[in-house]
Amino acid sequence: MSLITEIEPVGLDISSTTHAKIATRSELQNQLEYINGSKRDHSYSPGIVKLYDLALSYVEDAEQHARNGGRAAWVGGIWEAPLMYALGIVPISLTELGRLGSNDAMSVAEDYFQLPKESCSMVAAVLGEWYLRRNHPVKDLIVFNRSCEPLNLGWELIGKEGFNVYRIETVNRPRNNDPERLAEHVTFLAEEFADLAIRLTGKPIDQDRMANEIARLNRILGKVRQILELRKSNPLYIKSLATMFLIMGSGHYFGKPEQYEATLDLLISELTVADFIPSPRGKIIPLAWVGGRGQEFGVYKTVDDCGGAILAWSTPNIWRYDWPEAKTPLETMALHILGGIGGHGGSPVHRLKPIQRLIEEYGAQGILFYSYVGCSFAGIHHEVQREYFHKLGIRSISLEGSFQVGPPSGQLLTRVRAFVEMLT
Ligand code: SF4
Repeated sequence: MSLITEIEPVGLDISSTTHAKIATRSELQNQLEYINGSKRDHSYSPGIVKLYDLALSYVEDAEQHARNGGRAAWVGGIWEAPLMYALGIVPISLTELGRLGSNDAMSVAEDYFQLPKESCSMVAAVLGEWYLRRNHPVKDLIVFNRSCEPLNLGWELIGKEGFNVYRIETVNRPRNNDPERLAEHVTFLAEEFADLAIRLTGKPIDQDRMANEIARLNRILGKVRQILELRKSNPLYIKSLATMFLIMGSGHYFGKPEQYEATLDLLISELTVADFIPSPRGKIIPLAWVGGRGQEFGVYKTVDDCGGAILAWSTPNIWRYDWPEAKTPLETMALHILGGIGGHGGSPVHRLKPIQRLIEEYGAQGILFYSYVGCSFAGIHHEVQREYFHKLGIRSISLEGSFQVGPPSGQLLTRVRAFVEMLT
């Protein structure tokens, strides 16, 4: 295990929690600058300032909660919130690893885990960052086996570094939405969640508590929808980056459900009376974002600065629908993950119509498809989607970005700028 000696010469003592923390802070040059810049730009909005404060304190406060004897676990930040809060566990979204991590994570991925350079940047960044955080208090990871093979390999590797990896077997939405098969898949997945609850806590899930958490989530999703509806007529009151944080928050509440919901209430009351914020370019071009929760925050800023605004969001956090009703709370969760009643889950083909409805409803004039470098799955999804929307006459651009800390490349920003200007 010679790697530590190989990495130490760059000046970081990665075996020390304290040093790792200081080093991490010193490396937060880009994403943090964008967050703080956007926070300043929104100084007229107490709601957005509060939203960013929640985001900035999220991981450290959850880790402190764990140090104080509470429980926290790393999750995908997509569907887990009701289950985790019902189990008394604070969920920490792994997207925060790319966003608030350090550049050293990529060195660890390549030098210690021996991941090839062309590996998916998300897998490399999260593996490296977890390794650097191996002396931090949160050691539980809750993951699906279905994500992709690179991530499955990542779970194997990180499990050998002192992390407890709770893997969940899963299924996909059946072809042609066959209702009988779908019911079987829902039962299977609900049983997996019941089993997960026992593995995590030693006892069955409290069904009433889970039902209450689902009710809370549906209430929160209703508020997110209300904000996005109000934002249609004043898009730059909440700029694109802040809107992404708002939507992502519905997947974990930044570890503070009451504060997150109060922030949504504040934003609703602000938007109801807010003065219109004009674009520096005059006209505002409504756009759609389809794909990953992008880590390169300069892309959002560039969109806003050159006259666009992302109004329609199709990201892993499904905010468009309430969780559906099913026989039990765990079946409700399973049905939601499999695409709910609307059938938006599974194959990218299932998602075409829901995305089309979203685009129509929000009047988007162009689509930004976003994926991470090295992800062949997203490339295929976007090809299917691009062709479909091209036939409908909707223009689009495919962007590949990196997951880890770092500025967006100049080339990426130039392409974004050219695309928005073409639509102006
Ligand atoms: S971005 Fe693609 S390859 Fe990377 S972890 Fe996600 S699905 Fe897997």
